[in-house]
Amino acid sequence: MKKLIKDEIILAVISFITIVVLLIVPFINQKINITNYFDDPKNNEEQYLENIANIYDVEINTIHIYNINNKYQNIKISKENEIISFVINKNTKNRVESKILFKNESIEDINKLINQEVFIKYPKFIAEELIKDTTTTQYEFNNDGIIIYFDDFITNPLYKKTTYITLTCPQIKEYIKYTCVNENITSNPNTPILDKNKKTIAITFDDGPHKYTKPILETLQENHMNATFFQVGTNMLGKDNIIKQILEQGNEIGSHSYSHKSLTSIKKDALEKEINYFNNIYYGITSNNTSLLRPPYGNINNDIQSKLNYSFILWSVDPEDWKYKDAQKIAENVLSEVEDGDIVLLHDIHLTTSEALKIILPELYVRDYQVVTVSKLAELKNYSLEKNKIYRNFK
Ligand code: ZN
Repeated sequence: MKKLIKDEIILAVISFITIVVLLIVPFINQKINITNYFDDPKNNEEQYLENIANIYDVEINTIHIYNINNKYQNIKISKENEIISFVINKNTKNRVESKILFKNESIEDINKLINQEVFIKYPKFIAEELIKDTTTTQYEFNNDGIIIYFDDFITNPLYKKTTYITLTCPQIKEYIKYTCVNENITSNPNTPILDKNKKTIAITFDDGPHKYTKPILETLQENHMNATFFQVGTNMLGKDNIIKQILEQGNEIGSHSYSHKSLTSIKKDALEKEINYFNNIYYGITSNNTSLLRPPYGNINNDIQSKLNYSFILWSVDPEDWKYKDAQKIAENVLSEVEDGDIVLLHDIHLTTSEALKIILPELYVRDYQVVTVSKLAELKNYSLEKNKIYRNFK
């Protein structure tokens, strides 16, 4: 008897919770449907703005109206992280599909162009999400071309920025039904540019080239980031292709000596060999010299510093990737320590380091970091790299 009552109570509680949940769920994330508002042709322009402002609870000045041609208008409303953009028929005041402004036969080309530009602007882990069919897009037609905003972006809950790409008039003029105004745009607005005001660090890889240098280069490229490789002369022999690829991708190479000897504990002849042999091999492959040196084991003294004509690059973040052969642990060590202006020490001779990089770089992107070469970091932080000087960071 007692048990029966208990069961009934449990049942009642469960039913109650279910009803409450069913009642609440439809109101979470509910989007206001504004289509109906423009179905009434009697609404005039002023009323529109007022109506839109009321519906979205926004100030009139956050609404932009672009005249596309005599027939259509594009209205864009910005509200915090939300952008609502739609096309209306100027005469009927009815909302119409943005895509009616594209030539029918061009839809495929437009989509190809969007895909291409998304991968130019965003790292792979974001770009792949943006081009999924489930992503809703808002088209903003303005004088420079079209801005495409992507909604529903949930790759990383921390990445809460508005994601968008710009298609310029020269890129789209063949695909659209109206005349685009600024036909003289030559640069691609989607190409990422480095920003002096953003947090920036340098990642360095020692002891290669090695078989893991290639996957590391791939991860750097996918994330639109660069690094400095301090290479060992004996490892460079016969590795012309990978060395050229490192440089072609915008990375840089510094000397890590010829055979990884501690420079502070060898005689003059051996020291010269460590420096010159590296230079000969490097010059033979690249027809270039490097002015950066990372002494093996970080061993340096006053004598070496004044004798060798290099900028000596040490580091400020050491996740000890040679010790912890665990990608997650290495990534945590970097991410918990790294700050603006740091130089991170890694080695491109461990599989786990290569795997850790796949965690580190997207997370740094989400945290709004730029990852660049040592020389670029110095430049962005207003340092001039001097010879016979030691650098551990650029803060
Ligand atoms: Zn080393």
